Amino acid sequence: MYADIIVDITHEKLDKVFQYRIPSELEGRLKTGMEVVVPFGRGNKEIRGYVTGFSQKPGYDEGKIKPVLRVARDSLAIESRLVALAAWMKEHYGGTMIQALKTVIPIKKQEKARQKKRVRLLLNEEEGRRQLDVYLHKNQKARARLLAALLDQPQQDYELLTKKLNVTSTVVRALEEQKIICLESEKIFRNPIRHKEQERKIPDFTAEQQHAIDVFREDYDRGLRKTYLVYGITGSGKTEVYMEMIAGVLADGGQSIVLIPEIALTYQTVMRFYARFGDRVSILNSRMSPGERYDQMERVKAGEVDVMIGPRSALFTPFPRLRLIVIDEEHESAYKSEQVPRYHARETAIERAAREGASVVLGSATPSLEAFYACKCGRFQLLELKMRAGCGELPGVFVEDMRNELRNGNRSIISDRLKNLIDDRLKKREQIMLFLNRRGYAGFVSCRSCGYVVKCPHCDVSLSVHRGGKMICHYCGHEEPQVNICPSCGSSYIGGFKAGTQQVEELVKGMFPVARVLRMDMDTTRTKDGHEKILETFASEEADILIGTQMIVKGHDFPNVTLVGILAADMSLYSSDYRAAERTFQLLTQAAGRAGRGKSLGQVVIQTYSPDHYSIEMAAAQDYEGFYAAEMEYRGLMGYPPVEQLLAVLMTGPDENLLDTAAKYLREFAVRIDRNRRLQIVGPASPYVAKVSDLYRRVLYLKGREGRLLVEVKNRMERYIEMNQGFQNMRIQFDFNPMNVF
Ligand code: ADP
Ligand code: ZN
Ligand code: ZN
Repeated sequence: MYADIIVDITHEKLDKVFQYRIPSELEGRLKTGMEVVVPFGRGNKEIRGYVTGFSQKPGYDEGKIKPVLRVARDSLAIESRLVALAAWMKEHYGGTMIQALKTVIPIKKQEKARQKKRVRLLLNEEEGRRQLDVYLHKNQKARARLLAALLDQPQQDYELLTKKLNVTSTVVRALEEQKIICLESEKIFRNPIRHKEQERKIPDFTAEQQHAIDVFREDYDRGLRKTYLVYGITGSGKTEVYMEMIAGVLADGGQSIVLIPEIALTYQTVMRFYARFGDRVSILNSRMSPGERYDQMERVKAGEVDVMIGPRSALFTPFPRLRLIVIDEEHESAYKSEQVPRYHARETAIERAAREGASVVLGSATPSLEAFYACKCGRFQLLELKMRAGCGELPGVFVEDMRNELRNGNRSIISDRLKNLIDDRLKKREQIMLFLNRRGYAGFVSCRSCGYVVKCPHCDVSLSVHRGGKMICHYCGHEEPQVNICPSCGSSYIGGFKAGTQQVEELVKGMFPVARVLRMDMDTTRTKDGHEKILETFASEEADILIGTQMIVKGHDFPNVTLVGILAADMSLYSSDYRAAERTFQLLTQAAGRAGRGKSLGQVVIQTYSPDHYSIEMAAAQDYEGFYAAEMEYRGLMGYPPVEQLLAVLMTGPDENLLDTAAKYLREFAVRIDRNRRLQIVGPASPYVAKVSDLYRRVLYLKGREGRLLVEVKNRMERYIEMNQGFQNMRIQFDFNPMNVF
């Protein structure tokens, strides 16, 4: 037997694996991830390395292969645990060990120490307060926000401060010119935010909060490590519950990781954690360079941090005493990696927690079907928060049937009800958000007169229009010609829904000439701080209506918004994706949650051509469990996750014919090894984007009850691909339970 060994896991080019012989005294004792001592180079210097895999055959001249000397004494170091986790990820999600290691271990990068800018307040407390009053009086909200933050903490990181407060460089410059602040540069990167520890009142918990905390605490004290799902509407106090759990773990000497989707990683959220845990907290974000990430991890290893907050990748924080992993908004698709290994942070967190004796706490107002199903099966423990903890009532929801609008002669994309409510809010000087649901838009064909949507007869997902007048199913490849007349009602109002945010903006401006309208989409946010500028303008109430895509749905609180209009709620519903209904339900529930966050009660108008679809009915009724029941029935019927497991095999290559042949062979191989016919094999089909920068794409789907079996099939496919010349000029990737359609 031979062991594959990597000698420097933090090196940028860690693609060099060396083969070593396993001497008889170590046979059967080595495990992936273990740290060993090996002879290296001409002088056979003794160095340390990590075992990343095993092989039976020598890769080159047997006589030249050196032996592993011994297992390093402190081989339980955090790195070896992470290496072992990487091996698990490689096994479960596919790809190479190198790709997995690069995901898990921060890479050292030799780069010049980047100059960090820092903002420093030049006024004393009293002068500062006076100036703040001036800004508030003049209604200069951005300036006031910036100054208030600096009064709290007179020196702050420039980038973080401006990002989190949504202030532009223009505002900073203005204060600089007024000699209120100055900019300084700071060479080394230390804690991204330094914040004075401040007293923060822990609220009196509601009975539900206390119950969740107690259940966790009792299990924890008895040494039980489980996965919990905190299912609670927005504002029910989930974050307070997480913080209390973290505090308990901290008191016990343990460490915690908190995953938050990047988009929700707002200044307010981060500050709540700082206020409670002070300097023991650090954050990661995806804007950090590899060098900065590396520095953060070094701080962690030096023992300076006990709570790490960040997006998906923060899961790999090298805490030696990890006891708790919190995943907020666990249903978010951002928790699934789009790069090989295409891991899901939820599953990987559970695996890491099990290896290291930690608990996992998931939280969501609209849990993923996976998580709720696991609760029903008893794998996760459900902790419910049904009431809003702070103030704020849930908004009233109207569902507008757009087929009726057409029948009544209203051909615009704004219903009469929404129009009247907008007029009302403009009069009251309250704000409005119009949300154009474009997520997962993949050219589905629907009838504006009766709501009929053309679907695949085999897969129950909608067909997508492709060039040349064809409609295609992305799961099985089924094709049929595009229709011009609705097969259900005979109307000619059938086709792809085309309105974009720009058209909506023009229309709204025409309908409401007095309104000040802002638009936020890919176009208007292309510039560096376009995103912040728009939000800032809207937050300071310099606009009445904000029109946008899903970008506007998350993470921002605008207390003066009392009306949310959801145009074309169906857009995400009929994307050719088995998660379409789930995504629609989540989006609608979240968009609705934007209304009425302040003192006045909010209203929501959902416009749809399919008011009877359960995802829309249940979102309007804010009935998660009703939705869950209906959706699980569909998933079970069609054999989609979480009832069954789904493995997508993505193939990309420059030669379409070769790719088709290879896809056919791979399908046949899968059929051959599935002797007991426990899998359903679908495709190969052309994905929606069938060709990207001259590379063609094909996808094959495998469905089965047992995840284990799919992993085995994947392993055998990987070997088959490696050994066959025919697959040489193409890239083949695996994706378990994909979040999106390809
Ligand atoms: P979630 O994370 O579920 O959206 P948060 O923890 O952010 O909820 O709580 C929403 C608001 O309610 C916050 O302003 C929070 O400080 C407040 N809050 C939470 N729990 C309580 C409580 N027990 N009593 C009073 N206010 C609370
Ligand atoms: Zn019709
Ligand atoms: Zn199909």
